[in-house]
Amino acid sequence: MTTIGLLALQGDVPEHAAALRRLLPPEALTAVRRPADLERVGGLVLPGGESTTLARLLRETGLFVPLARRIAGGLPVFATCAGLILVAENLSAGSGTPDPETLGGLGITVRRNGYGGQAESFEAPVRIPEIGPESFPGVFVRAPRILAVTAPVRPIAFRGEEVVGVARGSLFGFTFHPELGADPRLHAAWVASFAPELLRGKSPAATPAPPKGRRRPVPRTPARR
Ligand code: GLN
Repeated sequence: MTTIGLLALQGDVPEHAAALRRLLPPEALTAVRRPADLERVGGLVLPGGESTTLARLLRETGLFVPLARRIAGGLPVFATCAGLILVAENLSAGSGTPDPETLGGLGITVRRNGYGGQAESFEAPVRIPEIGPESFPGVFVRAPRILAVTAPVRPIAFRGEEVVGVARGSLFGFTFHPELGADPRLHAAWVASFAPELLRGKSPAATPAPPKGRRRPVPRTPARR
């Protein structure tokens, strides 16, 4: 069975774990904290958090080099917010703080904190034609902005005309936080792209999103993002 890893060094790890537990058999999910953990996984979630801290912790744990190598070799990755920053090939200056070194993997140019600081965090519907006509609840927390996309990377998620999600094969990246809402469609679409057998018996349709009023608010004080 394919094992899905969740990078558990910093950031919104519990939220991704909860989203994945709703979709996967329990034994299919494992935390990745050191190089030996990485060897066991056939797919990896890179959570949101603080990209500079994540990059530093990847170096300190010895994960940086083997992870960059696995991503270059085609490891399926689901990268959100700070995770997306880490897999971007290019960062555009202008975030106001020193940028992290990135793992690379996605031919995109990203500006960190592209909408501003915490006060400019917001929720907005996102259009993702590949998962269906119904909009996806986008939670943008000190979100990065995708400034350029280079083929074969494909834009797949849109806020109005703006690209807020991209994919290349099973490497998916989003500027928002799909794990902070209750909509399982994006995690499910990612798993379906490389290990559909894991979803058997637990289709997203079986776990409908709760009514709008019960959605979680944008967290106001996420640990230094
Ligand atoms: N602004 C953060 C960074 O640059 C990302 C924010 C997030 O992951 N919610 O790392």
